[in-house]
Amino acid sequence: MPVELKGMPIGELESFLFSEGKERFRARQLSRWLYQRFADDFSGMTDLSKPFREKLSGGCTLTLPSCDLIEGSSDGTEKYLFRLEDGESVESVLIPEEGRTTLCVSSQVGCAMRCGFCATGAIGFKRNMTAAEIVNQVVFAGKRLKDANQCLTNVVFMGMGEPLENYDEVCRVLDILLSVYGFHLAGKRITVSTSGVVPRMLSLSERFPVSIAVSLNAANDDLRSELMPINRKYPLKELIGAMRQIPLHRGRKVTVEYVLLQGVNDSVSDARDLARLLRGIPVKVNLIPFNAHEFGDFVSPPRSVADAFRDVMVDAGMLAITRSRRGNDISAACGQLSAGQKESAGS
Ligand code: SF4
Repeated sequence: MPVELKGMPIGELESFLFSEGKERFRARQLSRWLYQRFADDFSGMTDLSKPFREKLSGGCTLTLPSCDLIEGSSDGTEKYLFRLEDGESVESVLIPEEGRTTLCVSSQVGCAMRCGFCATGAIGFKRNMTAAEIVNQVVFAGKRLKDANQCLTNVVFMGMGEPLENYDEVCRVLDILLSVYGFHLAGKRITVSTSGVVPRMLSLSERFPVSIAVSLNAANDDLRSELMPINRKYPLKELIGAMRQIPLHRGRKVTVEYVLLQGVNDSVSDARDLARLLRGIPVKVNLIPFNAHEFGDFVSPPRSVADAFRDVMVDAGMLAITRSRRGNDISAACGQLSAGQKESAGS
């Protein structure tokens, strides 16, 4: 079996090359080719000797991103549908904003968490993605931006899947994103979002200086368990306790994601409960009006309701913003594009 080099962080590349009798600095060269110059094959790695390149092509492989579909929104958002080697598909969303360009990546094919408002949850869990498959989403977007003389500034793990249920592979990718020989992103420019896998949330935040986002969506256990079954395993008391323990690097905050569902969790009273729940935790609350899709019966509240909710949070002294919906004219809620492909594939 050829050795897959894509997805290897610098430490693994060093160990691999060392075992092949090569100097450690070769790993740095190779890492730059993989993650900074987006090489497609070994032959173009011109600062490696020809015999070394031939040896690599004989025993190693580089999985390349395979993008089946690009949907562009009028607001500049782009959605990519990637085909994986076993035929499964996942998606990423590129979101250009003033001063930054963010890629939202997937970490699993489908998701086992079954959050009631999520198109990916409706697909169910298929499998974990490999580090190569996850990082290839970043390689694809990075190369596309580089060709347009732009660059990727932020990566968020908020696409398909629960990143902390694919912990080891996500950690390898974080190593690559942070490494000076990889994508060299600052920790504050990487956010890992979780539905609330408490133990791994703490271990990941202790291991990497990245930001953590918690998808909260309800301020009481009954409603949260209904919307997000993981709440039965890690109820709010444990989740909020863990949020208090997350090491916050250089005054950063824990991000709270709260999808506003009309008539479900969007009242002023819900907002007051949320403010009470989060009291004393340095948080930034992102209020996200529900992005309607065919797999859920929820409705997005009117802007005035979202604003009233935000005002309660702000009055309670919290940083809260109502996120504008991006990619409204494409299938921009996570899992929609992939689920749509499945539907059409099956029909
Ligand atoms: S919201 Fe996230 S964790 Fe929940 S089902 Fe969707 S992808 Fe999974």
